[in-house]
Amino acid sequence: MTWKIQLSNSLIAPEQLAARFGIDPAPLRTVAARYPLRITPHYLGLIQKPGDPIWRQCVPDPRELEISGLPEDSLNERSFSPVPAVVHRYPDRALLLVSGQCAGYCRFCTRKSRVGTAALAFSAEQVAAGIAYIAATPAIRDVILTGGDPLLLDDDQLEAILEQLYNISHVEMIRIGSRVPVTLPERITPQLCGLLARFQPLYLNTHFNHPRELVAASIGACALLADGGIPLGNQTVLLRGVNDDPGVMLELCRGLLRMRVRPYYLHQLDQAKGTGHFRVPVATGLSIVSSLRGRISGMAIPQYVTDPPDGSGKVPLGDADA
Ligand SMILES: *Cc1c(COP(=O)(O)O)cnc(C)c1O
Ligand code: SF4
Repeated sequence: MTWKIQLSNSLIAPEQLAARFGIDPAPLRTVAARYPLRITPHYLGLIQKPGDPIWRQCVPDPRELEISGLPEDSLNERSFSPVPAVVHRYPDRALLLVSGQCAGYCRFCTRKSRVGTAALAFSAEQVAAGIAYIAATPAIRDVILTGGDPLLLDDDQLEAILEQLYNISHVEMIRIGSRVPVTLPERITPQLCGLLARFQPLYLNTHFNHPRELVAASIGACALLADGGIPLGNQTVLLRGVNDDPGVMLELCRGLLRMRVRPYYLHQLDQAKGTGHFRVPVATGLSIVSSLRGRISGMAIPQYVTDPPDGSGKVPLGDADA
């Protein structure tokens, strides 16, 4: 399968970055030894020059190792984890963590201390225990597959999980959170779309952060999903030096809606260790969101939210359009 070949051709060593961009690999090595590095050929091709908004999202930065006092489990998820593969914080919704891997490792990831490592690897037994928990908890109506990236599973693994969830009578809908439309668009095959369409209502929320990610391959991947009957949403993270600019955010949100991807959330960055250099003040986020109002379709305006570290749940910031 093409997507597996693409994934196996990903850049995983600082030396490869150094050779391609003529930079010194030494400062990147210590960072990559702590937090995994993976950049797919597709995403690598979007980098125009070191330090640009694509680069910042995927290339290790020595600032990730700065001592910050920020916690590794920034959302206190462990206290809401009845079994390892489930996070159950709201009564009617639960996260089911089905994959610990992603196509590319985002430097700003909330779960960066665990993602792509043995600390976020779920065995088939743990996923089965997660599904059993959901089956035994009638209050759960909405199951969100996450990880890691659920679409790094093979079609048949994914199908088995979806089938079991679909057969639980109190589960009314399934959501999948995945960044592969951005980083590994080859993963979105007609076969995958056909598979997902069997488990309606099924929503896919993806994760574009910058208008330069809206290229033909990703536009095509989203078109395939939308044509296949999968409603699409987008969750953007507000990131310093990437999208903390009204013009960039406007272009992103307008472009997404044109691709039939509805901007859903704009997330204030979680307070996770190793991500402090991406932080944007809430005041800046508020002014960006209010700058969109009146200038683009209301449907293109995401709800700006924060997720406080006590684990109490998402809180809207400013004038929400909900
Ligand atoms: C964000 C989140 C959800 C889903 O929240 P919605 O606002 O319904 O999209 C569910 N569970 C957890 C733990 C979350 O963080
Ligand atoms: S795709 Fe999502 S889970 Fe994976 S590294 Fe990026 S932000 Fe984290």
